[in-house]
Amino acid sequence: MNYDLAVVGAGVAGSVAAYHAAKKGLKVVLLEKERLPRHKLCGGVITEKTVNLLKNLGMTPDRQSLGLEIENVKVKVPGAEKNIKISSGKIYTTYRNIFDNFLAMKAQEAGAELFQDTFVRSIDIGTSSVLHIRGGDEIRAKYIIGSDGFYSLVARETKLRESFPKNQLAIAAEYEIKGNFDIDAMEIHFGRSSFSYSWIFPKEDGVTIGVAELGSKLKSSIKDYLDNFVKAQNFLCGTKLPVSESFAIPMGGIKRVVANDRVALAGDAAGFVDSLSGEGIYYAALSGYLAAEAVKSALQGGSLKDYQRTTDREILPDLRALLRIAKLFYFNMGFSYYLFEESDILQNIITLLAGDIVRPRDFYRDAFIFSVRKFPSYILKNVIHLSK
Ligand SMILES: Cc1cc2nc3c(=O)[nH]c(=O)nc-3n(C[C@H](O)[C@H](O)[C@H](O)COP(=O)(O)OP(=O)(O)OC[C@H]3O[C@@H](n4cnc5c(N)ncnc54)[C@H](O)[C@@H]3O)c2cc1C
Repeated sequence: MNYDLAVVGAGVAGSVAAYHAAKKGLKVVLLEKERLPRHKLCGGVITEKTVNLLKNLGMTPDRQSLGLEIENVKVKVPGAEKNIKISSGKIYTTYRNIFDNFLAMKAQEAGAELFQDTFVRSIDIGTSSVLHIRGGDEIRAKYIIGSDGFYSLVARETKLRESFPKNQLAIAAEYEIKGNFDIDAMEIHFGRSSFSYSWIFPKEDGVTIGVAELGSKLKSSIKDYLDNFVKAQNFLCGTKLPVSESFAIPMGGIKRVVANDRVALAGDAAGFVDSLSGEGIYYAALSGYLAAEAVKSALQGGSLKDYQRTTDREILPDLRALLRIAKLFYFNMGFSYYLFEESDILQNIITLLAGDIVRPRDFYRDAFIFSVRKFPSYILKNVIHLSK
């Protein structure tokens, strides 16, 4: 079987890439190892910028795939909390089996051939690329998009990248709990320990509760972190918990090789995730689209390597700014809270997450200047406090 493009992995990145390439008239195959709709461990937060991007591509998510619209966000840092009403932008919480299935069906409708239960086990790059499928079949394609997630076989088989080092990833664990709970806001908890992040996301029929910690800072099992966090939530008292699950998230904002002449990586496979909030769905959709555009140009005589330049320009600067904001934020949680009290920074972080309005790189510049100005008064306040 011969194709212009083989897309490996029908998550968000893969389905957007396959959809866009098929719409542009390319002969596309989308290969997915699972049967759809497949389960994917995720908080399922979808932001307005993702919805807008999909709308512009002609893949407007329907109401069912978006799930619950969130109106309030509660942010907690040790010893304090703030409630924020979402006034610009929108945030939804959904389940990835529903959302991703919607996108995969769109790719199929656009003309991409979707092969489910199809595990790509190895790849040979010769005059054309040959993808070997478990079971013995072969697929030939001029170009490959590796959208096969964190453990990307495409990245390793084509020597674009080895595994992510421990200090460039977070380990996350979640419970997806069904039931009626009295929660009126989505909750984000920062800094329970060094670089940690926890969340409570209401869903239409329950709640997803999870924790994440930097791989290199994880001192015990992530499940212990999760269970301690769950124990502290009164609304879950007496609730029978399902089995917890864990998975890894790459940290974005680090320059990595994401393309060569024949292969482009998108989504988690490329490491495109916001290190502050863990948002990866938007960057998966954006990079899937950019990778499909790059393949189209390569077929017309350009080079697929241009995808590296495009993502270095369109994605890396924002992810780098978000990584810096995360570092600034975790540098000293007391100082971060002082900044919250003194400014609109917290409101802006939520606006940044929800909407399209603020560019992370502009936000980082403003936050950095503000922090430098405020740091002396924070030190002074602490010195006065200590001397009392
Ligand atoms: C606990 C947790 C919570 C998160 N919460 C959020 C959140 O709330 N909002 C958000 O924006 N992001 C969140 N993220 C990040 C988000 O889940 C990822 O960034 C996103 O799923 C990346 O999409 P993707 O399409 O690149 O990869 P994936 O969604 O991982 O899709 C990869 C696909 O490739 C398939 N595949 C893999 N190997 C092969 C193979 N060899 N052959 C064929 N198919 C293959 C897989 O089955 C899968 O379907 C969270 C991550 C975790 C771990």
